[in-house]
Amino acid sequence: MSERLVILGAKGGPAIRPGGPMPTSSLLEIGGRRIVVDCGLGVTRGLVDAGVPLKTLDLVFITHLHSDHVLELGGLLHTAWTAGLSTPVRVFGPAGTKAYWRNFCMALDFDIDIRIADEGRPDLRDLVSVDEFSEGPVFDEGGLAVSALRVDHPPVTECYALRFAHGGRRIVFSSDTAYFPPLANFARGADILVHEAMLEAGVDRLVERTGNGERLRQHLMASHTLARDAGRIAGAAGVGHLVLHHLIPADDPTFGEEHWREALRASWDGLLTVGHDGFSLAIA
Ligand SMILES: [Zn+2]
Ligand SMILES: [Zn+2]
Repeated sequence: MSERLVILGAKGGPAIRPGGPMPTSSLLEIGGRRIVVDCGLGVTRGLVDAGVPLKTLDLVFITHLHSDHVLELGGLLHTAWTAGLSTPVRVFGPAGTKAYWRNFCMALDFDIDIRIADEGRPDLRDLVSVDEFSEGPVFDEGGLAVSALRVDHPPVTECYALRFAHGGRRIVFSSDTAYFPPLANFARGADILVHEAMLEAGVDRLVERTGNGERLRQHLMASHTLARDAGRIAGAAGVGHLVLHHLIPADDPTFGEEHWREALRASWDGLLTVGHDGFSLAIA
């Protein structure tokens, strides 16, 4: 298996628009493991388009339970099952992930039961196991170590950055967070930092467009990171490559790659990618 990071959905927030990017999900292939990080709407299509046979699904990590990160977790697991999944899948998520999965299976029990009886499939509910984690070590197996850092994403308290380490390589996902300096320590020396980012001018336009006014602006400013501050984290951490992710705005044609690069000019002069759906980066 090639070792790569693929941004499957680069958009922050659950809404989608014609021809626009999809909400947050990523694929990380490292150390022979296939890892899905977050399952926003579109994750299943994104994996298929990235060339991943769904029945080879292996590990799934959910950073927090906002719908733009978890809406399609059930849909992904169920679709993988109908595509022939017969090996165990392990899901790791914060408190509440077990209830999500239990309730998803209840919602789909007609379909699951009928496919077991009619098509002779194994029971999906037996194939999937869910582990809930909090801050600290999450997973350690075959040289792949995963750890979590609680980040600052009010009012959500169970929200975690994740660090994947294998054979000296480290890839860190910020998850959703306000500017959070301890993240620099957590991401120290990482090869790749996938950090959420927001453009202030874009927020003004978004607030106008969606009509939620000041309330939306307050939420965004209190719980997300401006692009220049994502650059500050990357700089303090000394990472090799900064990939901007969970873009706000992601689908406003007024703002293109040059606006993101401009926003980071003063804070980050290293390798920079403005994430987009389907972006793939080989891991050296
Ligand atoms: Zn989000
Ligand atoms: Zn969130």
